[in-house]
Amino acid sequence: MSQTPASTDPFTAVIVLSGGMDSTTLTAHYAALGYQLIAVTADYGQRHRQEIESARAVANHYGADHHVVDLRGYGALLHGSALTDADVEVPDGHYAEDSMRSTVVPNRNAVLANVAVGVGVANRAATVALGMHAGDHFVYPDCRPAFVDALRSLVDVANEGFPTPRVEAPFLTWSKADIATHGARLNAPLDLSWSCYKGGETHCGTCGTCYERREAFRDAGVEDPTAYVDSVTEFTAPRS
Ligand SMILES: [Zn+2]
Repeated sequence: MSQTPASTDPFTAVIVLSGGMDSTTLTAHYAALGYQLIAVTADYGQRHRQEIESARAVANHYGADHHVVDLRGYGALLHGSALTDADVEVPDGHYAEDSMRSTVVPNRNAVLANVAVGVGVANRAATVALGMHAGDHFVYPDCRPAFVDALRSLVDVANEGFPTPRVEAPFLTWSKADIATHGARLNAPLDLSWSCYKGGETHCGTCGTCYERREAFRDAGVEDPTAYVDSVTEFTAPRS
């Protein structure tokens, strides 16, 4: 007769690894803490396919168990987001502008986080780690502190009676520049990470996420290892 294990494995963490610089630093963070890493990357048909290859390279760098979860059928249903709908252009500009709302993928982090939680429960992982930070809060509702609180409640209720991983978001109140600083200190392979939403072979430098990346390295005073098509154009933050 199989029995439900009494506890989680304190040394295993599931990382939601998109392949961007936040989740790359997150992987470095948990590797530095000595966890066995299970990295989960979603293929939701995103225009920027390169990030999946980046995730693979980062997971490989840390010897993580890496799983690309095929959510393309789900992504195909998400009309209207610039990241999944070829008819919607990826906007250039500052990431805090209203135009960046077109890069919201409906409910994306809620879905990905719950996939990771399921993997965590199945593997008795102590931790499920998410890489959102304060700079995401402007645009993405499912990157805000209220979302993390609600997710923790949901995880406890949805898995009642099973050893349940703790949802952690250690960068939740950090700026992206803080992440660049932390990543550099941890020797995270930020050169392997991918941010650009446009789907080209080189970072464009002017879409919201490229600009945020450029700004983060600059504000942190950390050398930016990224090649950009345009590393010169500047945008200013909108007045709030
Ligand atoms: Zn870009």
